[in-house]
Amino acid sequence: MKRVYNFSAGPSMLPLEVLEQASKEMTSYGDTGMSVMEMSHRSKAYQEIIDTTEATLREIMAIPDNYKVLFLQGGASTQFAMIPLNLMNGSNKADFVNTGAWTKKAIAEAKKYGQVNVLASSEDQTYNYIPKLDKSTFTPDADYFYIASNNTIYGTKMNALPDTGDVPIVADMSSNILSEEMDVSKYGVIFAGAQKNMGPAGVTIVIIREDLIGNAMDITPTMLNYKTHADKGSMFNTPPTYSIYIAGLVFKWIKDMGGVKAIQARNEEKASLLYDYFDSSKLFKGTVVKEDRSLMNIPFVLPTDELNAKFIAEAAKRDFVNLKGHRSVGGMRASIYNAMPVEGVKKLVEFMKEFEAEHA
Ligand code: PMP
Repeated sequence: MKRVYNFSAGPSMLPLEVLEQASKEMTSYGDTGMSVMEMSHRSKAYQEIIDTTEATLREIMAIPDNYKVLFLQGGASTQFAMIPLNLMNGSNKADFVNTGAWTKKAIAEAKKYGQVNVLASSEDQTYNYIPKLDKSTFTPDADYFYIASNNTIYGTKMNALPDTGDVPIVADMSSNILSEEMDVSKYGVIFAGAQKNMGPAGVTIVIIREDLIGNAMDITPTMLNYKTHADKGSMFNTPPTYSIYIAGLVFKWIKDMGGVKAIQARNEEKASLLYDYFDSSKLFKGTVVKEDRSLMNIPFVLPTDELNAKFIAEAAKRDFVNLKGHRSVGGMRASIYNAMPVEGVKKLVEFMKEFEAEHA
């Protein structure tokens, strides 16, 4: 069996143990005689799967009881509309921090429904830093305060949460959910597409404080109303059953690895291997300011486009794949989500050192 070191930004690597478990259960889950894909979402067997998936997520993230966990479809991008439709119902105003293409899309969508205040932006430097916030500019009666906790394309991470008082914080955690310990109670809504740290594409996890459910705008389509899904345990219609099942296996894998705390230590070790190398290398350079570096997405460049292309091609020959950076940043990007083993990053750094020696 060939497995490569897959540095894709998403969909991305899954733990081998999870794939093997799924493979064992592919044609018959337990003694049901059918694949999870072939099960009615209304069956007892499936209800157990979704219940266990939610319970394990609640355990590993320490989600307080006054939060609902929803398993939705439409990707993280659908949340860009669901958030304003459901939350922009008081002052009809919201504050945003613009840290990249994904927040920009969220801003554009929210503008359709209410008044958007962009407090700060790092667009001037291709989003290679997290802009400083000035509390005096916050909208005191905003319905919510919107951030992306990790910016997949640029490799930045918001390390400190602003103090927004009673204004609920909404966080797009698509690319760093479960990568480090987070205090869920500090957020009003957390959402994330599954396809980086949780499972296959197709399911989007929404963790929402209960008091934020039930006040959607009248125009809200039924399927875009959190209440629709919260009232029915994510079974208003057919949920993405197989993606939820795999996410459940991933959550169990995290638990077995020692939980998010242990995963965080492993992620810090992996990221340091790369960042420490960039800081000492004469050839490879990270593109993000030090204090805002992501643990998950690590963009870097060589001095010329020719060298970038050569590095990517030679890396692929050694089974380090999907290292090409996003077109807006250029160069390379190593996405090292939870499932990437420490060994994969160590070997990549060894290869970079060889490449540097050859091109010094
Ligand atoms: N937010 C972030 C931070 C992302 O990285 C992505 C996708 N890479 C999205 C939102 C959009 O997710 P989706 O494709 O699931 O709509």
